[in-house]
Amino acid sequence: MSPSSNIWKPFTISGVSPDPLTVKSGKGLYLELEDGRWIKDMISSWWVNLHGHAHPDIAKAIADQALLLEHVIFADFTHDPAEKLAENLLRVSNRSFDKVFFSDNGSTAVEVALKMSLQYWVNRGEPKRHKIIAFEGAYHGDTLGAMSTGARSIFNEAFNEWMFTVERVPFPETWIGDERQEAKESAVLAQIRFMLEQDNHQIAALIIEPLIQGAGGMRMCSETFIYNLVELVRGFGVLVIFDEVMTGFGRTGSLFAYQKTGVLPDLICLSKGISGGFLPLAVTMVQKHIFEAFDEPDAQKTFWHGHSYTANPLGCAAALASLALTEANRAAYETMESWHIDGISELVSTGVTHHERICGTIMAVDVRMDVDSSSGYLSEIGPLIKKKSLEHGMLIRPLGNVLYLMPPYCITKDELSDVYQELTKILTELKNK
Ligand code: PMP
Repeated sequence: MSPSSNIWKPFTISGVSPDPLTVKSGKGLYLELEDGRWIKDMISSWWVNLHGHAHPDIAKAIADQALLLEHVIFADFTHDPAEKLAENLLRVSNRSFDKVFFSDNGSTAVEVALKMSLQYWVNRGEPKRHKIIAFEGAYHGDTLGAMSTGARSIFNEAFNEWMFTVERVPFPETWIGDERQEAKESAVLAQIRFMLEQDNHQIAALIIEPLIQGAGGMRMCSETFIYNLVELVRGFGVLVIFDEVMTGFGRTGSLFAYQKTGVLPDLICLSKGISGGFLPLAVTMVQKHIFEAFDEPDAQKTFWHGHSYTANPLGCAAALASLALTEANRAAYETMESWHIDGISELVSTGVTHHERICGTIMAVDVRMDVDSSSGYLSEIGPLIKKKSLEHGMLIRPLGNVLYLMPPYCITKDELSDVYQELTKILTELKNK
């Protein structure tokens, strides 16, 4: 079916963006378009797909579950897929967390973490702890709370009056060969220390996308920064929320980003890859002391939050199948970083890339060219690269002038190497225009 005017598309400027392409099927790395073309999905379809499209193991798990139980209210009732998934998520996190709270997308996983952190302090008798530290350039979702903690931009300007204010601090982004990394990190840590010393115990929690800010432009920071940051804020009793909605399930080269940093958050938000890209699902996992503040037969201390599709059995079945694949194929996400390192040097040879950076399965560069008169998310270079990539058989969707790759783990070394060659051609063509 061709695109209709019935649908209000997300993140799409009306009347400006080209008509959407109809996708007929998917297989592994590839998407089949209605016109018969097969394109390589180099962004894992909004960062959710882990093992390739239409993976038979996950499809079968969903089909089997659908014939057994499709959904049941999750208050007063439970079911095997949710129980098993919670058990497995706690197991793969080495029981660092104690409880799993289900919801259904990344924004809700974040809302839950924020609400839990705020109520934690109310329940603990410190209601004055009601401020949140968040980072410049952050993105935590599109609901009001998540949006409030994300960076202010054209995306949320209309809601300025309704978003709560946060203690905003710079994100010490870094890249390969960055000589100022340590100085930037020290400056941010000093700013946060000063803020905490002045604050008089009003800060409830800090929220951060560990190691990589996704939608903010694949901005990366060092593992040491995350370690020092968490040590610092913990010293002042502040709770730590890691938004691993994007980084979870192998994206950074380890199962979870926190495992590379040597520190544990009090709360962690997971979604996107959790179901291998098949169904909407999310969890917020918490350490024991968080749940303990709610673990009382007192309605006032209860966490009153839930969604109709919370812990949907089909989503949980998909997540169990996806997690089994993730565990069985560790090598896929652990080795991809070295393939990116090989490929990135080709891009660099075009002379138009800056701030090259790689973390696990993710590679990003800033592209600067004369054709580009604007910058940021509305940069003109992004749509040009997107269009050319499609002509070269690849789904690539730059964030402004940030060109990034985040393929599913089923991509082969040769396929990735071909993509780098095609991209090098594209950048050279655009440069010589
Ligand atoms: N947090 C992060 C780090 C994200 O990247 C996203 C989505 N891009 C979200 C939260 C929100 O997730 P969702 O789109 O599923 O609501």
